[in-house]
This record gives sequence, structure tokens and C-alpha cells, in this order.
Amino acid sequence: MKLSRRDFIKVSGASAGGALLYKVLGKPTTIAAASPKSIPLHKEMGEKTTVCPYCGVGCSVIMAVEGGKITNIEGDPDCPINEGSLCPKGKSLYQVANNEDRLVTVKRRSAGAAGWTDVDWDDAIAAIAAKIKQTRDSNFEEKDDSNNTVNRTLAIASLGSVFPNNEEAYLMSKMLRALGVVYIENEARICVSAAVAADEETVGRGPMSNHWIDLANSDCIMVIGGNVAESFPIAFKWVEEAKEKGAKLIHVDPRFTRTSAKADLYARVRPGTDLAFVGGIIRYVIDDMGANPGNYNVDCVREYTNASYLVNPAFTGPADTLDGLFSGWDGSKYDKATWAYQTDATQPDNIKKDPTLTDSNCVFKLLKKHFARYTDDKVVEISGTDKAKFQQICQAFAATGKKDKAGAIVFSSSACQRSIGTQTVRTFGILQLLLGNMGVAGGGLDGITGASNGLGCALQGLVNHWGPGGGSVRMASSSEQTISAYGKDKARFTSILKAWYSATDHNTSFNYLPKRDASYDWQSLFKAIDDGTIKGLICWGINPAVSGPNSAAARQSLRKLEWMVVVDLWETETAAVWQLADCNTEVFLLPAANSLEKEGSVCNSGRLNQWRYKGADPPGEAKSDLWIISKLMSKMKELYAGQTDKNAEAITGLTWDYGDPPDVRKVAKEMNGYDLNTGKLLSSPGSLKSDGTTSCGNWLWCGMYTEDGNMAQRRGTIDPSSIGLFPEWGWAWPLNRRIMYNRASVDLDGKPWDAERPVILWDALLGKWVGDVADGGDPPVSTSGKYPFIMKPEGRGHLFGPGRADGPFPEHYEPWESPVSNPMSPQQNNPAIVSWETVAKGAAADYPIVATTHRMVEHLHTGAVTRRLPWLVELMPEMFVEMSRELAAAKGITSGDMVIVESARGASVSGKAVVTIRLKPLQVNGNTVHYISLPWNWGYKGLSKGDSANLLSPRIGDPNSGIPEFRAFLCEIRRA
Ligand code: SF4
Repeated sequence: MKLSRRDFIKVSGASAGGALLYKVLGKPTTIAAASPKSIPLHKEMGEKTTVCPYCGVGCSVIMAVEGGKITNIEGDPDCPINEGSLCPKGKSLYQVANNEDRLVTVKRRSAGAAGWTDVDWDDAIAAIAAKIKQTRDSNFEEKDDSNNTVNRTLAIASLGSVFPNNEEAYLMSKMLRALGVVYIENEARICVSAAVAADEETVGRGPMSNHWIDLANSDCIMVIGGNVAESFPIAFKWVEEAKEKGAKLIHVDPRFTRTSAKADLYARVRPGTDLAFVGGIIRYVIDDMGANPGNYNVDCVREYTNASYLVNPAFTGPADTLDGLFSGWDGSKYDKATWAYQTDATQPDNIKKDPTLTDSNCVFKLLKKHFARYTDDKVVEISGTDKAKFQQICQAFAATGKKDKAGAIVFSSSACQRSIGTQTVRTFGILQLLLGNMGVAGGGLDGITGASNGLGCALQGLVNHWGPGGGSVRMASSSEQTISAYGKDKARFTSILKAWYSATDHNTSFNYLPKRDASYDWQSLFKAIDDGTIKGLICWGINPAVSGPNSAAARQSLRKLEWMVVVDLWETETAAVWQLADCNTEVFLLPAANSLEKEGSVCNSGRLNQWRYKGADPPGEAKSDLWIISKLMSKMKELYAGQTDKNAEAITGLTWDYGDPPDVRKVAKEMNGYDLNTGKLLSSPGSLKSDGTTSCGNWLWCGMYTEDGNMAQRRGTIDPSSIGLFPEWGWAWPLNRRIMYNRASVDLDGKPWDAERPVILWDALLGKWVGDVADGGDPPVSTSGKYPFIMKPEGRGHLFGPGRADGPFPEHYEPWESPVSNPMSPQQNNPAIVSWETVAKGAAADYPIVATTHRMVEHLHTGAVTRRLPWLVELMPEMFVEMSRELAAAKGITSGDMVIVESARGASVSGKAVVTIRLKPLQVNGNTVHYISLPWNWGYKGLSKGDSANLLSPRIGDPNSGIPEFRAFLCEIRRA
């Protein structure tokens, strides 16, 4: 029997709807009925599946293996995400597995030596373990100045990449925390951390709310601060599918890219001005909502956001004072006392509200007043965009405010990497809340991660303040001396402690782990190397000599270390940093296995975990990260055996029983967790206990490896939802939920706002939700009183966001370096901006050109992998600088000339000029602003060598996340 979506909702929305739905479709669409399936591959031909290790799309790949060698790579036609397609990077994986440049021996460069020496694994592991012990013990803090137990060392740091699988990242986190390391950072910090800081404030969680396939359900997709067609090429097929069904594609970007070429509406904006652009759309929507309320889901705004909340009358913002500041600014930071809600003891959440949204102190009115200043003309004045195009975009995206329409906002690192990155992404969330676009099919706030397991690695606790499980399981601070003093997530933290220290009472092991007193973020980490605090650094597949801001300074910092361990496939710029100048750093270079040579789960941008299988052994002596971590920790345990001081129990008591070689499935099961009374694997995080009777290494992954098997291995291709949920393909955290906040897709009684594209619906007869796994699981608001944004204290989305450092509403400020005086207010830069830069910022009079950076389809990130692959180097062979025809003419440059780009702080890079109509000068506030763009994929190692664009970027950070301002800074350009 074939059902249309309308039929589906008719039958399932009737009083006996749920029962009839099951009768027709056969079984519920949730994970409960699913079980792992065998892989329908030509196993006899040696075929195995893996997941592409590059971008966050997570394409499934088939490897043909013959005689222990990978002989072919092709897209997996069964995978619902890529349906057999691969982009050039994915296709070139063959050359990663079969590559003469791969590291095949363990290398050691002694302090001051002129070259590498090959050593064997046992010697290397023993030497590294000894260095760690000596550094740790000489720099160990058991107590702080207030006599709090802190058990930490500031002298060792770790930088992680996005290439390890989840199980490797989890073990890395477990080992490092047990050693007392607090400077633990990850590529996610410099990529999309502003999105996390923004979305946690707005809706409660950081990652993509929807998923790749869901883009096909959209009526309008706005890509802003990103280039999906080139950076996430296979995902673009879902954008194209939406377009074929009539959806509009909007692209907002300084460069006209392949995404722009497919867009119905393209708006060019000055780098660093997305906030003002979207602020203008918010102003349009609020005005239009007043004029045409029938075009919007006003009920959703009133009920599911804090629009009705009354704010302290003493609160003021830039709209009141015109000085660009909110109330409470004391010259260095905000006192947030006036950013509070008015209280009302009769309300369940104690907050005074005005459901009519008319009180002058209600959030909605304050929001309206704040964004009223972002008029069409002001947006044009700030961003240089075309006014008519901007107005068309306002209309097109606002049209998704109707209950039966859905719009998605898709963005990536370029929206985040700026000194107002968090507030830029906040505007995206505010707009989506106003339009009722959260939780619905085809809607969403889709911040995409640039790498295959970027999300998974960060969420295993590889950013300094997060434990495994991310923002909801933060590492304890020094003021939390007992687990009872730790925040509300005791069950999650206790279960981690039982997974890590199974034989120790959790009240005791709580203080084994290091306590935090500060932010140990990426840029602070490099400062701590500079001031001599950090003496040893471990880099796991990461290349900070190219990826960090002000790369020359980063390279100098690395050369100040006493020792450094680099785990990688190749001799990267970071591993070779001692070759640039005199340097006494002792360096160990450990050859690693690539993704095709190991097994485990990886989590794509859409939170989907897929299992990758091992195709072949790594070459020579190369080993998986899992093997390296396991060996290193086993050696540390040997070294600390019998020791009682320096918190040695944290190491000797650490549960570490994965076998030799380590069994990745055992690690995956530990992450999932056990009922310690029965010994059975847990099925969901709802069963976690704070009394020490459950273990769970990462609550978000609880449910992936249950008594029913490894859910990440599943290859079920049915889609009972017909909105592309594919609930039996892999496993999405949390709980296999495919669309987060999905209780916002229904009204107070659980009926979908959009009858054509229901995500969930409440079946009153069965007393349960039907469809996707409901977010929170509580019955509809009308009976439970539980609102859909379950990670926010009141369950409602935050239009007013009092938790951020630089204001409860987003406000436009200029980049740290800018040729423009802020047209919005006398406050030029984000007042709470954080600077680690030691060189003064440059003056626009001398360096009037704006530089921005980008990436491209052929190369990933620092190019450490892709610049080693002949196929990709042939496609994109050298460093270049894009500029407009107008700028080129003014400078006497023609395409193909070598040019020199000089930063306003004295750094320079050279590259080949690409003169193009993709860039055009902008008229900003009466002046012409020229800008250029540089790919950031080059360095001085590999088949194709070139200057790194990040030699030019400043060490400036967004105050909420510390993310660097990679995307807008000043420069000058000339022919070489
Ligand atoms: Fe797919 Fe991204 Fe890999 Fe390309 S790089 S094959 S889009 S996962």
C-alpha cells in the first residue's frame, strides 16, 4: 500500500492514528525494532566499507582489498547520504593507502641534532613515557593557593585532530585526564567553536540540528558563511534535490563560488559582516510579523521561545544608548545583573511573562527595538551588499515563516572565525526561532563541521573544558571539591568515573581528575608555550604550524618546547618545525595508520555514527592511534607502579583492559556503558545513575553499542518516514534522534505544524510519540508542561541570550583590523574581544585591503594529507591569491603573476595571482573596499609547497569561544 504524506498524517492523526500507522507501515520508525544487519557486500571479493575521513558529510566508501592491499576505492551505493558518489578527495583515498611518502618508521630528532634517527617502538614509547613522567612530576600541582585539590600539570599539552575515530579520541581523553593534563585542545576550537557557544545559548546544543539528507525537505536554504558545493560537495546533491522540488537557494558570501553559481539569490558581502546582514533579515521578519501575522507561526514564537519573558527594566542596549554597549559594561567586561528576567513566584519557572508580547520590557519588544536599527540602508552601508538583492532575500527567507514552510540555515567555519563569531551565529538561531524553523523537516540550524570526525573528537572531551559528552559534562573546577558540589549532571559524570576507575569509589576518583581554574584554549595554550609554562606537547594528526593564527609565531612557539610528539602519516610542517631555525626541541615522529587501516566509529556533521572497517594493515611500522595510546598508557602505569605521591593513583588505578592489540569494540562498549549490577550493556542514557551502579564513558554514545549489537554498523536502507530519516542506517546521537528539537515541530498538543512533512506526532491512544525519536520524550506541552528545547533550563529557545560575554543580543562590530569605521556605533570592535597578538594592529591607511581565507574541494585544511596525493596536487597544484579585476588593474597585476601579500603586522606570503570576477570591490559607507582571498591549504612540506595564508592572520579571539579571526584582516598586495 502506498501512502502520500497527506495520507500518512490523516491516518496517523486520527484518534486511533498511531495504531493504524503501525498497521500500515509494519513497525515503529524508532531504533527499538532495529538490529544490526550483515553487510551486503562482495565479501568474497574482499570488499569492506569505510567512511571518508575528510569532510563532515561522512560518505560511505567501499574498499576492494586483494592480497592485503587496497586495490580500489568507490562510493557505497547503499549509503543514503552519498548514494555511491564521492568527490575528488574521497576518490583519491586510494593514494593515501598506496603512497610512497607515508611514514613507515618511528623517528626521533634529539635536541639540537641535524636530522632524524630511526628508533623502534619500544624505545620510543619508553622515552616518551619517561619525558611525560619527568615533566609531569616536576610540574605537578596537587593543591592550589586556596588548598583546593587540583591534581593537574600545566606543563604538558595535547592538540588533537579530527581524524581519530571516536574510540581513539575517547581513550586519548581518558589517558590525558588521568595524567592531569588540562591544556587539551582540538581542531574544533579553531574551526567552529563559536557555533557551539552560540547554539548552546540559543537552543541548547551546538551541532547541526538536522542532517544532510534533510536539506532535500527544505523550501529555502540559506548558505551563509560557507561554501557547501566545494567544501561539502556530496551534500550539495541534497540542496539540488530541494531545488528540483522548487526550493530556493540563497548564498551570502564575499566570493562568488560554485555554491553561488547554483543559487537563486546571491548576495555579496564584505568579509566580517554576516551579523549585520542577518540582523537586517531579523528586522524585516519582526516588522512583517506585525503587518502580516498570518504569514508566521506566532504561536511557536510565543510558546517555544523566551519572547514573552520580562527583562529587568534597568536593562539597556545599543538601541537605548547609541554607544554600542549593553548595560553593565565596566570597561573590561560586563556585569550582567541587569540582563536578568523579572520574577513571578506563581509561574512554574518563576519568570514573569507577557503572552501578548506587548510589554516594553518583554524579550520580543526588546528584540524588535534592538534590530530596528538594522534597516536596509544600514545593512547596505555596513556590508556593501546590493539593496534590491537584500530585500529579495528577506522576502524569500521570511516566506518560510508559514507553518507549512521550512527554511534551513547552513553555515560553516567562515561564519564562526571572527571576533563576533558567536554573535554572528546567534543571529542565525534567532532568525530560525522567529520563523518556527527549528525541529521541523527541512528547517534547522545547520552548523557543519569541516572534518569527518570533528564533532566526535571534540565530544570525547578533547577540548579543555569538556569531558566526554561535551558541554553538558564539563570538567570540574577547583571550587568543586566533591561530586555533590559538581553541577546537575552528576549521573553522567559519576558514570564516567565508574568507566575510568571501576574499582574505586566515585567520590574518591572525582578528585583524581584535574580541576580547572581558567580557559586552557588553543590561543592560551600557545601563550603558555611562549611563557615557558608548557614544556611538552603531543600533536595527534594535527598541524598547528599551518592551521593556527599567525603561523610564524606558532612555529616559533613550537621551537621553544623541550619536547614534542607528533603522530601522523607524514612528516608535516609541525613535525619538521625544527628544520626552520635553531631549535633544541626533542621531537618524536610516530607513524600512524590512516582511516582505511583501522576500525571504529566516526560521527559526521549530522551526528550520525557509522562504523568503518579495516581494509589493510598500515605500511611498515605504522600503527593506529588506538595502539599508540594503549602502549603509552600501559607504559605510564608501569612507571607509576608503587608510587604514592603526585596523584599516582589516578594512573595506577585507571581501568585499562583493552587487550594487546587493543580491542576497539571493547572501547566502544565502555563508551556505551554498563549496568554494573547485571553486567549488561545499557540501552539509553536515561538509565544512568549517580550512585555508582552504572558506568558510561560518554552519555551521548549510550545506546550505540547495546545488548542488541553495534548500532553504528547498521546498514538498513528503509525509510518509513519518507523524509529521509533512515533510522536503521548507522546510529545518531542522542538516542538515534535524527532531527533535534523535534518537539518544536508540533503544537502544544503534539500535532505537527506541517501536515505534509511530520517529524513526530503524539499518538494519544498509544500514549507515545510516533516518527523520529522525540526530543526529551515527554508528552506534549499541554499535558507535560515540558517545552521542546530540553537543554535550556526553561525548555525554550533564547532570543535573549544572557549567557554570552558580549551581550544578550547580537551587535555588529568591525573586525579587529578593518578599513571601515563602524557604521553602527562609536564602538569599533567587540568590546570583549580577546587578544593574544603581540604586534599592534595595522592601520587601514597603510594596509587598506581586506584579506579573507577559504578552502577548496581538492584540499583539506592544512593540506597535510591532500598535498601528498599526486591526483589532487595535479588538480590544484599551487598557492594562489584571488582578487578582483578592479584591484588587479589598480595594482598592475595580471593573472599568473607572482604577488606578495603583506599583513598589517609585517608578515608576508607569496602566491600566483588569480584575477577573477568572483570578487568585486564593494561600496561601503561611501568608500570603495577591495578584498582578496587566499586558500589556507599550503605549507612547506608535501608534493606541492607554498606559503601558508595563516602567516597573515592575527591572534585575536571571540570572547565566548576564543576562535581566531581568520576571515577578515588587513593587508596590502603587490607584484613580486
Ligand atoms: Fe564525501 Fe566529504 Fe569525503 Fe568528499 S570529502 S567524499 S563530500 S565525505
